Amino acid sequence: MFDRVWLNAHLATMDGPADAPLGQIPDGAVASKDGRIAWVGRRADLPPDAAAEVIDCGGAWILPGLIDCHTHLVFGGNRAAEFEQRLAGATYEQIAREGGGIFSSVRATRAASEEALYEAALPRLQGLMAEGVTTVEIKSGYGLDLENELKMLRVARRLGEKQAVQVTTTLLAAHAVPPGYEGGTSAFARHVAWYIIPAAAGLANAVDAFCEKIAFSPEETSWVFDAARNAGLPVKLHADQLSDLGGAALAARYGALSADHLEYANPEGLRAMAEAGTVAVLLPGATYFLREKKLPDIAAMREAGLRLALSTDMNPGSSPARSLLLMLNLGCTLFRLTVEEALLGVTRHAAAALGMADRGVLRAGTRCDLALFRIGRPAELCYWIGGSPACGRVVNGR
Ligand SMILES: [Zn+2]
Repeated sequence: MFDRVWLNAHLATMDGPADAPLGQIPDGAVASKDGRIAWVGRRADLPPDAAAEVIDCGGAWILPGLIDCHTHLVFGGNRAAEFEQRLAGATYEQIAREGGGIFSSVRATRAASEEALYEAALPRLQGLMAEGVTTVEIKSGYGLDLENELKMLRVARRLGEKQAVQVTTTLLAAHAVPPGYEGGTSAFARHVAWYIIPAAAGLANAVDAFCEKIAFSPEETSWVFDAARNAGLPVKLHADQLSDLGGAALAARYGALSADHLEYANPEGLRAMAEAGTVAVLLPGATYFLREKKLPDIAAMREAGLRLALSTDMNPGSSPARSLLLMLNLGCTLFRLTVEEALLGVTRHAAAALGMADRGVLRAGTRCDLALFRIGRPAELCYWIGGSPACGRVVNGR
């Protein structure tokens, strides 16, 4: 006997064979038991009188609950005023001289109470939830000292405890050298590795770093990754976004769950990632907002056999993107992803980018996290620019 059955729906299980990965089942049914999917298939094959509760989906499409696998959605303030200044002709240098850029987010985040950070992040999280998102990764990285990094992680965890959504946290203390810090990147990377990671390990599910000319070198990043390994935490990497520093290969060497951005990644690095099982996370919101001309090499990624995920990178500086559905469209228009690639990127492959084997597909035994959409075919999720056809959401079978 199942707890619930969802009927009168079309399914995209995201669990199909390589040549039909959406796994479409017209007139399908999903059944749950104890928060897990207990049965998936054609309605005609469903055992009769099988459930305590039957839900008529009215012809909606059911996908696995969507997963936003790369966000920085907890932060103080925002940078709309900077955006306005830049559009009015101010240069990056002028804005930096006035204390703008990432340091304005660091100052605002440090100044905010936990309650204020929670209240600011909540509508951003709820916006994702309203689109059918059931799992969200949230990074720290605007505290840049132990106390404030812990504060950010606690806020992220609390969002997941209070809201009907799974939150997984990532420590990104190696995001930038904090304002006023006198030791430079190497000293700060050591501080993160030796002091912040061991102290924050209990609040983080993973460790991330920003490996870039304007941030941390590959060697400094490796100290951070060694510390993560010692703390028993998997790693992720902001890699090769603005230049090719070999970030993709570095991530692969550490068996990273994912390497993210990858605009400048070289084909060898991409191949190394594929061998290591590292997922490539694409962030078209940043490409769009920064008006980047250099695009990730999708052809090389396909050739390497990489799994591609797609995410908002929701952050106040480079990607104030509050819609994962919009990223489906941007991934297809800017990067020429196929519908299959884009949809796998916010379900099955996004789950892999978080090391979560229990979700991202409609399959017996996985978590019963569902997203329901009023659409005629899955491609509509990639086609519309703005608006949300989401019409239902199930987390853990409820
Ligand atoms: Zn990011």
